[in-house]
Amino acid sequence: MSEAMKSVFARKALTPNGWENDVLVRIDAEGRIASIVPKSEAGSDVYVVDALLPAQANLHSHTFQRAMAGLSEARSPAGRDSFWTWREIMYRFLDILDPEDIEAIAAFAFVEMLESGYSSVAEFHYVHHQPGGQPYAQLGELSDRVAAAASATGIGLTLLPVAYAQGGVDGRALAGGQLRFGNDFDRYVKLAQAAEKAAKSVNPDAGFGVAPHSIRAVNERDLKALEQQFRGTPFHIHIAEQIPEIEEVQAAYGQRSMSWLLDHLPVNERWCLIHSTHMTPEETQRVAASSAVVGLCPITEANLGDGIFNGVNYLASGGLFGTGSDSNIRISPSEELRQLEYSQRLRDVSRVTLTAEGKSCGRTLYDTALAGGAQALGRNSGSLAPGKWADMIALDIENAALLGLAGDRLLDGWIFAGDRQAVSDVWSAGRHVVHEGRHRDRTAIFKTYKARLASILERV
Ligand code: ZN
Repeated sequence: MSEAMKSVFARKALTPNGWENDVLVRIDAEGRIASIVPKSEAGSDVYVVDALLPAQANLHSHTFQRAMAGLSEARSPAGRDSFWTWREIMYRFLDILDPEDIEAIAAFAFVEMLESGYSSVAEFHYVHHQPGGQPYAQLGELSDRVAAAASATGIGLTLLPVAYAQGGVDGRALAGGQLRFGNDFDRYVKLAQAAEKAAKSVNPDAGFGVAPHSIRAVNERDLKALEQQFRGTPFHIHIAEQIPEIEEVQAAYGQRSMSWLLDHLPVNERWCLIHSTHMTPEETQRVAASSAVVGLCPITEANLGDGIFNGVNYLASGGLFGTGSDSNIRISPSEELRQLEYSQRLRDVSRVTLTAEGKSCGRTLYDTALAGGAQALGRNSGSLAPGKWADMIALDIENAALLGLAGDRLLDGWIFAGDRQAVSDVWSAGRHVVHEGRHRDRTAIFKTYKARLASILERV
């Protein structure tokens, strides 16, 4: 295989024209799809797979939380556990992490993302400073660490440095673990510039965007100033995840958080509204009409007890969504889509909810998440078409969940019966990083992660 041009031959491939047979995909030296030709011959100089699909973008991740999995599931003696009690555990946890920890956890989380079938990730990166809030000698130290982890693993990174300036809508000061997040507007702009530089150093497909943490954490003036200053980049925000958060905004601003956002900021296609769990029917219509992407994180939302997103009404209104692994307690794009669909079935006492009549549920979920994820990351990907980054996965048709299935049923099999074991190969912008289900550097990255985790758990 020549260095300049790589080729993949797929017996079946999901192209913009649907499933096609004997597809030759040529990838240029930068990692973009140069051509897609169905009904081709395999030839001698090609990598052959059975079933090739575009890969999803993971539109929302906090990688450091991967190392917290299993540490927040004991019932507290104080009474009712909630998102807010979990957040206290999370704040204490992040307060013991050093830059080496953060890089090692990020690298291993990126390996798991790639092995499970994501080829890119939007890292919503909010731990910026030392414990207590003192900046590192390099303001962008921890952005550099995330970028280094992306570089080591080959994942397609969109780095989203998070703006976080206050402890609540009333403007209260940051406290405890939050001190590591905080920046005033001017320092945030400097940090964002450092993060953009770090992201751009990873590889040509890496990107950058801006993420005000939430309406709680950034006041109206700064939110509007950020939107102006960084026009043209992806713009992500947590919103309407928890009822108390909506009530807090209602008490201070006189409106529910989503309605307030839609009335005060120009929410459009560069926006990604993370969670959007609790929306009124009117808010659902307005978000769907805004061209923004809703960032659903169904596994984390279930783990944190957020509530159930009304996917049925939102999709019927033509809304866009993608999925994110968020807390990374489990990392699996197929499981996110399964959890999303199952939440609707359980609520509505129904089956096959998030698709149109006669259409495969898996196919609709996958197509929607492909488009939404790519848009949210500002990444030219999401389909097997010339000019797009070659973000691709191959499914192993010998996997028990996929045996005997073809066409859209492969997606139904993978999403409803399968998992990461069904993913044999992953390419991110043409980088062939997963082969036979394993990341090329899994052994070394896991070894480092295991050692760091042992040390972290001694400090918890
Ligand atoms: Zn989040």
